[in-house]
Amino acid sequence: MDNKVLVFSAPSGSGKSTIVNHILSLYPDSMEFSISATSRAPRGEEQHGREYYFLSTEEFRQLIKEDKFVEFEEVYEGRFYGTLKSECERIWNAGHVIIFDVDVKGGVNLKKYFGDAALSVFIKAPSVEVLRERLINRGTDSPEAIEERVAKAEEEMEYAPQFDYVLVNDDLKTAFAESEKLVEDFLDDGRLNYSTFI
Ligand code: ADP
Ligand code: 5GP
Repeated sequence: MDNKVLVFSAPSGSGKSTIVNHILSLYPDSMEFSISATSRAPRGEEQHGREYYFLSTEEFRQLIKEDKFVEFEEVYEGRFYGTLKSECERIWNAGHVIIFDVDVKGGVNLKKYFGDAALSVFIKAPSVEVLRERLINRGTDSPEAIEERVAKAEEEMEYAPQFDYVLVNDDLKTAFAESEKLVEDFLDDGRLNYSTFI
């Protein structure tokens, strides 16, 4: 496992998915999103094998026992999320760079696992108030879930120093430009040329 990987983590609502999707759109032929396994139920239009591999808690626990995960976390009570070794292999076999969107503990663990082959970026909203506002405007979570996410964010902020970079997502255009630069520098002109990594 010596190919390059990009790891993005953030408290929920900071803009991680927005930034990850932006980066992915710049490297359509050479980068691929790591689809995690989760024991939570699909939301809205989510499909098995597209947003997540949706598993029962029993199936998830069985895969833990069989040592099938690079990392996993119980991100919310009773809801497991994890990166399958088979998913990394799938993406690398296609010759693509892997981009991860995981919680902050997962991000720290992936950086430890991949070492210098990983660029780890912690995305941060400018303040807790802005974070709450974004979650409300996103309209995907109940008021209780929003408060759960905001409470958790304060604890998650403590992991920021363990990342290679902390990116404050205030003005979106600026955050896009900063993340583009970080990725470009890390991949060292590897844009649209994945032969560099295999
Ligand atoms: P996360 O993946 O970290 O939970 P999202 O990418 O879903 O966060 O962003 C949360 C909400 O905030 C979304 O509705 C998104 O469109 C919005 N958003 C993201 N970045 C910004 C920004 N810089 N300014 C304003 N709104 C933003
Ligand atoms: P959601 O339920 O909103 O899709 O995701 C909740 C949280 O789980 C997000 O912070 C997301 O980044 C995180 N997550 C998704 N996949 C993984 C994974 O494979 N490992 C870890 N540790 N966290 C994950």
